[in-house]
Parts: sequence; structure tokens; C-alpha cells
Amino acid sequence: MTNKPSALYIHIPFCEHICNYCDFPKLQFFAALADQYLIRLKEELTALQIDHSLKTIYIGGGTPTALNDEEFEILLKMVWPYAQGVQEYSVEANPESLSEEKLLLLKKYGVNRISLGVESTDDRILKILNRRHTFKNVQEAIANAREIGFDNISVDLILGLPQVDKQMLLKDIQNLISLNVEHISCYSLTIHPHTKFYLDGIQEVSDDYTRELYDLIAQELKKAGFIHYEVSNWAKPGRFSEHNLTYWKDNQYYGIGLGASAFKGKYRYKNTNSITEYNAGRFLKSKELVTYDDDKTYYIMLSLRTIFGLSFDEYEKRFGEDFEKNHKESIARFVKEGLLKVENRHLIPTYEGMMILDTIIVQFMSD
Ligand code: SF4
Repeated sequence: MTNKPSALYIHIPFCEHICNYCDFPKLQFFAALADQYLIRLKEELTALQIDHSLKTIYIGGGTPTALNDEEFEILLKMVWPYAQGVQEYSVEANPESLSEEKLLLLKKYGVNRISLGVESTDDRILKILNRRHTFKNVQEAIANAREIGFDNISVDLILGLPQVDKQMLLKDIQNLISLNVEHISCYSLTIHPHTKFYLDGIQEVSDDYTRELYDLIAQELKKAGFIHYEVSNWAKPGRFSEHNLTYWKDNQYYGIGLGASAFKGKYRYKNTNSITEYNAGRFLKSKELVTYDDDKTYYIMLSLRTIFGLSFDEYEKRFGEDFEKNHKESIARFVKEGLLKVENRHLIPTYEGMMILDTIIVQFMSD
């Protein structure tokens, strides 16, 4: 593998408040800490010596919009030399901190996609999550973004939240559809140790119930014209997340900032989760050689997550093996069971297949 990464991920770990379920690398915003962080981030970015065109850039978090306006402009200016000409440049934002000033800065520095952390459209549930926005803030943030000229907006929703029954979820979906956005991500709630939800004894919903929630979402979003293009992601035609497709196609990417991952050459890299370490200039936590077998596993696992599927030709080019021939019986069985289909020399998951992907992957691994 010698192709250079065409995607760049940048992590901004600061948040205005800490949500009760959150397990991302994040910390409470503190301007002095953020100032130092941006200095180190620039060092890490410069050291990459990116001398070619990138296709996508994604600034995520944390909450990039938790930075104050001055810091936010420092960040966008730092990325600007790499941003000119990229196909997709996304920034994550929280509705309450996506001010007009920040929107104007995003526009000025070439950002063309906004990913808004919505999580729920019920103000009572948002309080339980310890989110600081209301659904009205979401509507206002999107209206402001549209006015300033953003035509590619994504929102996300958490499934299986405490106290949210199917009727409330249906209302959430209808509210999201009413926002008229281009992209919707829905992730089921995972209870991570050390989070407030974990300490409060909140339980995850069962797999069967999660499946019922997915069925409801898939049905409603399909009616609204969204394409279910990845297990947890829906988009209007042509509005797939190009940056995330880099991961799902198992292509290489740069990643900088606290806790960020990267895949370059034959290695996968992971940065430190400690802000003390990071701000002292010690970025890297681990560097792992991707073996031939690991690479195959990643490729199968990731490519079957999307409707673009696993390409037999690319698999052969990459691994020198005939996937179709080597897994003939399993493919035939999954096709017969309606879990996979073969089209134009690609193995593509159906909706049913996406819902039990782990079983399919385990079978291919043990063939
Ligand atoms: S805003 Fe996002 S990153 Fe920050 S605490 Fe909440 S869920 Fe975590």
C-alpha cells in the first residue's frame, strides 16, 4: 500500500459541558489550555508535510465550536492551506455554540459541510443527556447556516435513550425530517464505564428492541427520500459523507489531535488521550503494523458496512486472492437468505444483512 492519504481528521477535544453518556476524548473548555493545544496541533499538522491534494477534511470533537471566536479562526487559518480545492470540508458543531460569527468564519475558510450534534429533539430528554441546547436552537442554527449559504448539513440522533419510547422516537424522526437536512446519522446508546449514565445504572436496550428502532427509522427515512447507505447513516442522493467513506472503504487517512487515529502506509497510529502529554508535544500513543491478515479483516468488515459493498476486483488487486471463489458457499447461502446480493462484481449487504453484519463477517473470517 503506497497511496498517500486523501483524508485528514482533526480532533478538537474541548466541550462547553460534559454530556452524561459521553466516552469521546474530551474535556471542559478552558481558553489557556485550548490556546496551547492549538499551538501543538499546528506542530503536528506541519510535521505531516502534506504535499499533495486532500479530498476531504473533517474537524470533529469534542466540540470544535466550543473554542472562542479568536481560537476558532486560528484553527481554520491553520487548516486553510490544505483546504483549498478539497471536495468536502466538514466541521462538527453544537447548536448552542454555532453563532453567526462562527458560521461566517466557516464560510470564509472554505468549510462546505456542517455536522450538527442534535441527539434528541425532545427538550426534556436533552436535559437528561446534559445537553445545553433545545430543539428550537437546532432549528435556528440550521436556518442561520442556510442563510449564510451552507447547503450540506448533517444531524445525528441517539437511539435507545432512557424514557424514549417508539412514539417519541417517531416524533424525533419527523422533527429531523422537518429540518430538511441532507444527512442523518443514528447511533444506538452505548453505556461506557465512568460515564454518569453508567454510574446511575442506566442500561442499554436489548438487541431486539434496537432492531425495532432501526426498522422504524429506516422505514420513515426511506419514505422521506433518504438512502440508507451505511449501517447507521442515511443521506439524500449524492450527499453521502465522503470523509467517512474513506474509513469505510478502508482507505488511508491522516488523523491529528487528542486521541486521533491515522492509517498511513503499513501502520495504524493512535494518539495519546492525555491533554498533559499532548500539550507537552508527546502526541503518539501507539503505532501498530497492519499485517496482511489484519488488513484483509479490516477491508471485509468495513466495506460490507455500506451499499457500495466489497469489490471482488479491488480485493484481488489488494490481496491477490479471489474472494468470490474462496467464499463461494457462504456467499451463495447469504444471497439465498436475502442478506447479501452480488451486483457488478460487488458483494453488497441488504438491509437485513446490515442488521446482522457481525454474523456475516465471522462466517467469512472462518471460511
Ligand atoms: S458535546 Fe459531544 S464530545 Fe462533548 S461531552 Fe457531549 S457528547 Fe461528548
